[in-house]
Amino acid sequence: MSQSVKTLDTSKIEEFESQLRGKIIQPLDEEYNEIRKVYNGMIDKRPGLFAMCLDVADVISSVNFGRENNLLVAIRGGGHNGGGLGLCDEGLVIDLSGLKSVRVDTSNNTVRVGGGNLWGEVDHATHPFGLAVPAGIISTTGVGGLTLGGGVGHLSRKYGLTIDNLLEADMVLADGSFVTVNKDQNADLFWAIRGGGGNFGIVTSFKFQAHPVKTVIGGPTLWPIERIEEIMAWYHKFINNAPDELNGFITTMIIPGPPFPETLHNKQFCGIVWCYTGSQDNFDKLFKPVLALNPVFAHVGEMPYPSIQTLFDGLMPPGLQWYWRADFFKELGPEVSAQHLKFGSNIPTPLSQMHLYPISGAASRVGAEETPWAYRDANYAGVYVGVDPGPKNATKITNWCKDYYNALHPYSAGGAYSNFMMEEGQERVKASYKHNYDRLVKIKSAYDPENLFRVNQNIRL
Ligand SMILES: Cc1cc2nc3c(=O)[nH]c(=O)nc-3n(C[C@H](O)[C@H](O)[C@H](O)COP(=O)(O)OP(=O)(O)OC[C@H]3O[C@@H](n4cnc5c(N)ncnc54)[C@H](O)[C@@H]3O)c2cc1C
Repeated sequence: MSQSVKTLDTSKIEEFESQLRGKIIQPLDEEYNEIRKVYNGMIDKRPGLFAMCLDVADVISSVNFGRENNLLVAIRGGGHNGGGLGLCDEGLVIDLSGLKSVRVDTSNNTVRVGGGNLWGEVDHATHPFGLAVPAGIISTTGVGGLTLGGGVGHLSRKYGLTIDNLLEADMVLADGSFVTVNKDQNADLFWAIRGGGGNFGIVTSFKFQAHPVKTVIGGPTLWPIERIEEIMAWYHKFINNAPDELNGFITTMIIPGPPFPETLHNKQFCGIVWCYTGSQDNFDKLFKPVLALNPVFAHVGEMPYPSIQTLFDGLMPPGLQWYWRADFFKELGPEVSAQHLKFGSNIPTPLSQMHLYPISGAASRVGAEETPWAYRDANYAGVYVGVDPGPKNATKITNWCKDYYNALHPYSAGGAYSNFMMEEGQERVKASYKHNYDRLVKIKSAYDPENLFRVNQNIRL
């Protein structure tokens, strides 16, 4: 049982604060209610203490303070986690938002990124050099949580998951020690953090391999939801045989309003969001079969890479209510697409969506044991997200996601991408790491035997 911060002597908290360059924030402080907000407005946790770290020394002091006082410890990177795993009730939140810096090394196209950076900040820094690190599809997501869970996005088919581009990390471990991990140094930890989440320590700095990506050809194509069975069957064949340069995730969605044409507003669609990293000529040839399917809307063109990374930011501002469910899929057969037709025709609120991200191309060519990310052969990481501005539809969006998930889970590959899960219990965590779970447990028992870092998709001993 952890101790609540409330029961701590104030002198202990004062002494802790004196060790930090950053400040602490407590429940009676003016900023408390603002600082305890995370991206998902449905999360309402009340931590006992925030340590707003500014450097590695602050992180070390915070880890030692949490451990020595037997506090529940949460680590907050970008605060995007659906289940609110960057926060905890009563305990200590080690906030990394002050650990930001991005340095691009053009001699070898690598990028050093702070443990508290957001992906938009990385894209901003790498773009002038014509470089990009594979990440997700929303620029406000944290580098920390996204990377440690895997990292699926527009460049996955060309350059792999984010973890496939991680070269090195600096970490503060549960005993307060500081280590650098890479393929030669602390290789067991380096393996574990490429998918195993924040279970093994706090990453204060990441080093990534970047790639030459300046502009991409991207954007959405839409078909009426009634055509989803035909489009999904076609998509499955097409994307799994497409060159790595082409990525496209398939979705069921409502067009909520501008900037889309008015004729599309409030209707349900099957969409594909494309991203191509090759030449315009090759794209035009490759895209002919897509246009032959007569999409009702196609807005696909050349844009700077940071533009595709921010394309959906406006639709998805922080503070909306989110409910998540997820699964991996190998096939999109008729039974599967029939359920997408059913639930895609019945989307509960304008912002709720289903996405299936391809796990093919380069992402599928990494061995299933090379990193903890076990489902390299899954073809798709699926996620159902119920989203709405206020809490009044919370039950409706939650039930839609659960029902969608329950209907399709029997056709799934078993587990889910850990970054698309909320708090769903130990069996789901095990299923998601599959054959890699036991190795993760061994590493966890070596580096965090007391399970100090447990506010995550937890690797239990
Ligand atoms: C709108 C939206 C879009 C998304 N799109 C994508 C996508 O395209 N692709 C994708 O792969 N994922 C996507 N995600 C999921 C995302 O990867 C996870 O939500 C991830 O957990 C967010 O990381 P964070 O640092 O922002 O989260 P936080 O809530 O801060 O942290 C999440 C978890 O990571 C741990 N953690 C964070 N930073 C560190 C660190 N430096 N050291 C140790 N542990 C740390 C935390 O303890 C916590 O357990 C999306 C999420 C949202 C809300």
